Amino acid sequence: MQCPKCLFDMEVIDYKGIEIDRCTECFGMWFDHLEREDLKSLEGADEIDIGDEFVGARYNEILDVPCPKCKVKMNHVLHTEPFEIKFESCPQCHGAYFDAGEFKDYMEDEIFEQFQDIVRHIQ
Ligand SMILES: [Zn+2]
Ligand SMILES: [Zn+2]
Repeated sequence: MQCPKCLFDMEVIDYKGIEIDRCTECFGMWFDHLEREDLKSLEGADEIDIGDEFVGARYNEILDVPCPKCKVKMNHVLHTEPFEIKFESCPQCHGAYFDAGEFKDYMEDEIFEQFQDIVRHIQ
């Protein structure tokens, strides 16, 4: 699969049975149909988010991003209160794209709760 942001190839990595596509260049990550259930298993999965957050922050400025699977324009999800949570979500397949460094932040306990709620609401 091709990274929707930098257009390099993404590789499939497996974390506790959950398949995650990670870009070999910018290290952005793609989750197929992100489920609340899956998120629970992903707790502590911050080690898979190995990219440079400064690179991620730069790619996060790209707002017009097509879903790597269905090619429809993804929604830019942004919540600022009480924590800043941002990622791209596909309205069609409900996949989610995280720039490098973003996902790791949400795996911290307090933010994790908020993050789970947001994921539930966008589905
Ligand atoms: Zn990339
Ligand atoms: Zn899609």
